[in-house]
Amino acid sequence: MVVVLSILALAALVGLLYLLCYGGYQGPVDWIMRTDSHGDRGRRRVALTFDDGPHPVHTAPLLDALAELGVPATFFVVGRDVDANPELVARIARDGHELGNHTYRHRYLPLARSRSVERELDATDRAIARAAGVVPRIARPPWGGRSPRNVAVFRRLRKRLVLWDVNSYDWKGKPAAEVVRRVLARARGGSIILMHEARDGGETTIEAVRMLVPALRARGFELVTVSRAIA
Ligand SMILES: [Zn+2]
Repeated sequence: MVVVLSILALAALVGLLYLLCYGGYQGPVDWIMRTDSHGDRGRRRVALTFDDGPHPVHTAPLLDALAELGVPATFFVVGRDVDANPELVARIARDGHELGNHTYRHRYLPLARSRSVERELDATDRAIARAAGVVPRIARPPWGGRSPRNVAVFRRLRKRLVLWDVNSYDWKGKPAAEVVRRVLARARGGSIILMHEARDGGETTIEAVRMLVPALRARGFELVTVSRAIA
């Protein structure tokens, strides 16, 4: 009996921690801390977001595709890679896209101390400012991992903590058409769509973007940056 109760108590504790810290979908931490995972549901606007760049191979052709399509997007960049490829980050800003902070070393933040969360965000801000001359107002924790403690750090640094409500799973190696089908089935007014520019298979993401943008427009969606979507 004691063993059963202990196991149940442990399961409840793990469940609670999972709900508070889990990356990905909205949970209690978001209801309490008011993080953003989508914009106004009443407007036919969606935001494309690209995480984990800049990438020496994929970023330039992705920017070419977005320019051809005439679409503004939002890039959540990793500070370490910003320092390695500052010219790509300068181009992201020059092309009219929005930059967001995705930490310096792509750390899982719920296990980090507040001070290191602050350092991660601050070092990335400085890298982006050096490269592109702007300081982002939005940030996304790697894997969406968050806890009340580090959400408070984001707030103290005046960053809107931005998640997503549509996960493209573009990193799973499925064909581009399947990624597009998945996103179209889930996109609603205000949706923030999660994609990646810096995984293996970044070509698939670019191919998916080329199909996705016209399909979203055909459904009456305007494509905007995250800041506009959540304004
Ligand atoms: Zn990431």
